[in-house]
Amino acid sequence: MSATVIDGKRFAEGLRGRIADHVSRLKSDHGITPGLAVVIVGHDPASQVYVTNKAKQTAEVGMASFKHELSAEVPEGDLLELIARLNGDDTVHGILVQMPVPDHIDANKVINAIAPSKDVDCFTPANVGKLVIGLPGPVSCTPLGCLMLLRDQLGSLSGLNAVIVGRSNLVGKPMAQLLLRDNCTVTMAHSRTRDLSEVVHAADIVIAAVGRPQMIKGDWIRPGATVIDVGINRIPAPERGEGKTRLVGDVEFASASQAAGAITPVPGGVGPMTIACLLANTITTASLINGLVPPR
Ligand code: NDP
Repeated sequence: MSATVIDGKRFAEGLRGRIADHVSRLKSDHGITPGLAVVIVGHDPASQVYVTNKAKQTAEVGMASFKHELSAEVPEGDLLELIARLNGDDTVHGILVQMPVPDHIDANKVINAIAPSKDVDCFTPANVGKLVIGLPGPVSCTPLGCLMLLRDQLGSLSGLNAVIVGRSNLVGKPMAQLLLRDNCTVTMAHSRTRDLSEVVHAADIVIAAVGRPQMIKGDWIRPGATVIDVGINRIPAPERGEGKTRLVGDVEFASASQAAGAITPVPGGVGPMTIACLLANTITTASLINGLVPPR
């Protein structure tokens, strides 16, 4: 059997199209232009690429995009002041501080400085709490993207066994909350889980968010299961030439796609969904800030 390969890039394009339509309606019906401010500290090349992509896609869907670049040596107080200014700026509905921040800055202080109403990453304790108890608000971007792909692939997720490998605040924990909301039976696995291959084998849905290249093997996957690979790992690719590298996920794609019913590739699976979901969250916060019901 060979699995359906879930095309996250195409799905994200469609989602951005729906977001652009919604932005036009917010502008024409309510005079609201959703605005997203992205703050980057330092010159990490990978972070620069993410931030440039975010700014480009924000503008493409018709939102206002504000970029703030601070030097790697910026005092923590200056960053907190900028966040306070953005919190009070009515043209800004979403604030994202690109992580990681340099060591002299306390990331928790930065997160807690962002007004929960503008926290489009869903990092603040207030929004994590809302996610857990099911109140409207922004939802962690990568897990939201995974959920959209799963619903598109499977329809109802009710009653399915979902195993999430990885329990980070960024991916694993919010993913569990979303799948629970959709009535899955959720198991969270992590570095202390015993017999991981057997745990994974019981899953109708496998979410891999570990950060270890190709750790989850094809023979762990239950025939017909749906596999969502969040991992992004760069490994040497000598077959492409000396010093070349390539991206792989946390799942051994070639063998897993023989067992799975459907599987996301890396790249081109979950990755493109994350920025699209950031834009979806900006629509959510712009709606809620203006007393409107956000789209589902
Ligand atoms: P973290 O490093 O924060 O968390 C990794 C998790 O994996 C931890 O819970 C850890 O367990 C668990 N783990 C580590 N080793 C094992 C093991 N041998 N067996 C079982 N579990 C293990 O990573 P993130 O959640 O931030 O990211 C995970 C991956 O997803 C990375 O590759 C990252 O690059 C990628 N990513 C991709 C995104 C996208 O847009 N596609 C967005 C965010 C992340 P424990 O808690 O016990 O230490």
